[in-house]
Amino acid sequence: MKVDTNEIYDMLLQRFGKAECELEHKNNFELIVAVILSARCTDKRVNEITKDLFKKYPDAKSLANANIEELEKEVYSCGFYKNKAKNLISMARDLVTRFNGEVPSSYEDLISLSGVGRKTANVVMFVGFKKPAIAVDTHVFRVSNRLGIVEAKTPLECELKLQKKVNKDKWGNFHHLLVLFGRYVCKSRNPYCKDCEFKSFCKYFNKNK
Ligand code: SF4
Repeated sequence: MKVDTNEIYDMLLQRFGKAECELEHKNNFELIVAVILSARCTDKRVNEITKDLFKKYPDAKSLANANIEELEKEVYSCGFYKNKAKNLISMARDLVTRFNGEVPSSYEDLISLSGVGRKTANVVMFVGFKKPAIAVDTHVFRVSNRLGIVEAKTPLECELKLQKKVNKDKWGNFHHLLVLFGRYVCKSRNPYCKDCEFKSFCKYFNKNK
């Protein structure tokens, strides 16, 4: 059975009602910090950490001057804390020295920041600046491949193939919907296939049933 990607989008939208970023933030500085912390960590945990973190470091300048040992302790519970603390400080220093403390809006500038990869840059582009972008995280990668929307071996291949399959005006929302679906239904282990509306054409389900 052929998979119509825009139909999948509509079905996901129907299931979740809305497509939204679950990382709490009030501005683009908070957003980029939260996205960096969210690598291999749940949004729920990141939200717990950032509640206090944003009070102590409300802007790029304060984070650029953070004491690394203190910051490591503050982000410890989201895993990879040493790398994340180092990346946050260097990213904030880049913002201060190169962008007047503001988060830049272009993909090229975002990706040039220390500690910012494609996924982070794409999320900030879409969520922060409402520009079309598809960020590929572990959920998007897994679900897209399982469903057969794409056949991709790397996140970059997945992103480029999704860009061709999904209407541009849906890119960002499609990311959010696939994240929600991967987080709550099509989990990495023991996906809830029994109640899944995509069973009839899901490549993974039909291969493993
Ligand atoms: S049928 Fe199972 S593996 Fe396929 S998309 Fe649904 S939950 Fe995921």
